[in-house]
Amino acid sequence: MLVYKFGGTSVGSIVNMNHVKDIIDSEGTKIVVLSAMSGTTNALVEISELIENEKQISAKEKIDLLKEEYNNTVYKLLSNTQIRKEVATYVNAIFNSLRNAVNQPYDQQLHNFIVANGELLSTYMFSRFLQQEGINAQLLPALEFMRIERNNEPDLFYIKQNLNRLIESSEKAEVYITQGFICLDADGEITNLQRGGSDYTATIIGAAIKADEVQIWTDIDGFHNNDPRYVNETSALSNLSYDEAAELAYFGAKILHPLTVLPVRNLDIPLRLKNTMAPDAHGTLITNQIHGEGIKAIAAKDNITAIKIKSVRMLLAHGFLKRVFEVFEKYETAIDMVTTSEIAVSLTIDDTTHLDFIIEELRKFATVAVDDYMSIVCLVGNQIIYHPDTPTLFQVLQDVNVRMIAYGGSNNNISLLVNTNDKMETLQKLQRYIFENEKHLVL
Ligand code: ASP
Ligand code: MG
Repeated sequence: MLVYKFGGTSVGSIVNMNHVKDIIDSEGTKIVVLSAMSGTTNALVEISELIENEKQISAKEKIDLLKEEYNNTVYKLLSNTQIRKEVATYVNAIFNSLRNAVNQPYDQQLHNFIVANGELLSTYMFSRFLQQEGINAQLLPALEFMRIERNNEPDLFYIKQNLNRLIESSEKAEVYITQGFICLDADGEITNLQRGGSDYTATIIGAAIKADEVQIWTDIDGFHNNDPRYVNETSALSNLSYDEAAELAYFGAKILHPLTVLPVRNLDIPLRLKNTMAPDAHGTLITNQIHGEGIKAIAAKDNITAIKIKSVRMLLAHGFLKRVFEVFEKYETAIDMVTTSEIAVSLTIDDTTHLDFIIEELRKFATVAVDDYMSIVCLVGNQIIYHPDTPTLFQVLQDVNVRMIAYGGSNNNISLLVNTNDKMETLQKLQRYIFENEKHLVL
């Protein structure tokens, strides 16, 4: 079986929904994971924030506005009057429940409930649309099988059992539609896989049913060798290994949720990125095969905070790094980059929730300096440490102020830390040094 995932833009307009219909209207049973229509999750987050800030009237206004948009879509998408009526009733019920949420006490659970509605709306509307178009589609409610454990890892055992049971007990269909992003937590409450989490839903499902392939359909033709928002003339990468794709997804190439690769990597299930607006383009195929050597892609991750920890006592002392890392461990804060010298260690984090406590604890045994508004520029490829072209990238150091370099941690990655203000220039210069001057790099 194949798993397809379509992102917010792919289901964000009637024209695009028709593209999606054409793509999935092919031989073979498939599971189709959908995001919310583009803009909806953002709108729901705003509604949630208005409620949190006790701006009930504005929250209601925003809900009504969003409802009107959905009513319009339903009217235009569905010509079959019976189906249109049923979908309108469903949409109405969802918006009533949102309106009810406005006057409830605000907490994380209420927030999670509010933001879950985007995927509920898109999947119901789209599955009924497919039925109208004569495609045998059934809805598989994600909240009946998708669940995470207390450590936020997917509960694969539970997911496998419940998804298979659900498929067996529902009417046979060519296309099973389900919600991306949303799931239950270990206590059975609604939660989600974080923003962009529909990609992750797709590969978790792929692993649970041992799919032949997982395809992520979005609005760009796969991973590019640099960030198209900042650099002209980037090109799509036709093949990547799981490791390369995981690094790129984690370090900023916005196209994939950072954890997407993990569930399929273990089972060697191919992951393919495709463009809904250009379905004939090759896209990027991600497998365990390594294609070529050298630097293949550059990506950048913003909102990075650098922390420099310095202690004269570190000189010739052991145990200092352990003490430092224990502080981050205690506050469950992941470290992305680390560099050390004899008396200092610099590292970066992107989650600053507990930064104040972390600094306070570090100051008990070291001096601490913090820099924010930093970006990690990450170069990804295979065997890049040994590749003869790699030294050319250091030409960039003459021109931009690189604050930290992580080189040698893995064969797949070199990371540079720069001020976010310098990011665009760094990406553009690297593009020139690495891709535009070199003939024998593998793209
Ligand atoms: N709708 C969710 C979001 O906007 C999940 C997703 O699109 O993947 O983050
Ligand atoms: Mg996405």
